Amino acid sequence: MEFTWTTEDEAFRKALAEFLDEEMAGLDLRPGGGPGADDHVELSKRFTRVMAERRWLTPNWPSEYGGGDATAWQHIIMSEELWKRGEPRGPQYMNVNWIGPAIMAFGTEEQKAYHLSRISAGDVIWCQGFSEPEAGTDLAGLKTTAVRDGDHFVINGQKIWTSYANNAEFSFFLARTDPTAERHDGISIFLMPMDLPGIEVRDIPAFVGQHIFHEVFLSDVRIPASALLGEENRGWPIIRDVLAHERVGAPKYARATYVLDRVAETAEAQGRLDDPQVLQALGTGLAACEAARLLAYTSIDERAKGMRPSGIAYAARAAMVQADRAVATAAQVVLGADVLAHDALATDQMFTAFTAGVATGTYEVQLELISRLILKLPRTK
Ligand SMILES: Cc1cc2nc3c(=O)[nH]c(=O)nc-3n(C[C@H](O)[C@H](O)[C@H](O)COP(=O)(O)OP(=O)(O)OC[C@H]3O[C@@H](n4cnc5c(N)ncnc54)[C@H](O)[C@@H]3O)c2cc1C
Repeated sequence: MEFTWTTEDEAFRKALAEFLDEEMAGLDLRPGGGPGADDHVELSKRFTRVMAERRWLTPNWPSEYGGGDATAWQHIIMSEELWKRGEPRGPQYMNVNWIGPAIMAFGTEEQKAYHLSRISAGDVIWCQGFSEPEAGTDLAGLKTTAVRDGDHFVINGQKIWTSYANNAEFSFFLARTDPTAERHDGISIFLMPMDLPGIEVRDIPAFVGQHIFHEVFLSDVRIPASALLGEENRGWPIIRDVLAHERVGAPKYARATYVLDRVAETAEAQGRLDDPQVLQALGTGLAACEAARLLAYTSIDERAKGMRPSGIAYAARAAMVQADRAVATAAQVVLGADVLAHDALATDQMFTAFTAGVATGTYEVQLELISRLILKLPRTK
């Protein structure tokens, strides 16, 4: 693996950084109280439309789907530059990273034509309908059912922790279509419009963002069979790859490194760079960020070579959790009680550190997967 950037990659990063610095000057990144608020979603749409005009929203997608034919590396450059500036795409990072690619790989021509054009135009909010009250880490234990009725399915059940469900137009939705099959075999994916009759969305109040989490209740929701993504009952292999893309697609180490630099500047201004406690916190943060970056690059290298994601994606994700936590600790050591009031990025960093070990599969489970898939240790009971 080659660790230097090409001249084209460096030129891409420079042009993008100049554009973002200009577009984001003075931008409030937590309008309306942050993720989930209507104003935050408006910011996401406004910003992504400007990026889409330059084909920078989906740079690595093929041009026929509104992309810029760029490489997997330019995609990660774009994500790094956005994350370190506070991720103005908001929920739409999911569309670009894994929802669109899953539709591109497994969708019908009609699904591709409709959904990919809207995603690459920055025109649509999606949510992820995975977790249920008794199926989070153990996602294959999901109980929501979809029963065939002619050319429709009828869905009943409940989802929980669904970010952005209040403003989403579609859900990338999992349901059990064969309750008699082995649990991984009977699951299907639906590209589900969120305005179907029988869907009720309720807020779960949370300090990370007032309207970010939701419960979604589904009673006798009739959805056309044409909304199935891929084959009926064969959703699990798609979900496995989707989760691997989700884990490395958000380069949280970029924001963590940026925040760490600002924290180090504050420590320097306070004359505390010879304080061993401060130095240890900053050094631990930097080492964790670098480890996360290099592990993420190893995983992206697989993607750039057209390989399926290996266990390294889990190591990258675990390292990103460690980086988020180490930088939050450094911020606390240097900023003390002011940490939550410092600025939007430091605030987000603290919230991220609180939730990092849970979102997209828990930290402990990533360790379990690393032990089996990379270290080849026996499965724990
Ligand atoms: C910020 C954030 C955003 C989220 N957004 C969404 C979303 O948009 N859509 C969605 O569907 N979900 C979302 N979630 C939910 C998230 O995916 C789940 O919370 C996560 O999968 C964990 O599931 P759980 O909460 O049921 O915890 P559990 O699975 O019940 O885990 C509880 C504890 O048990 C431990 N544990 C469980 N199994 C094992 C094991 N085999 N070995 C060792 N330890 C184990 C876990 O590590 C954890 O500490 C979000 C969560 C967060 C924090």
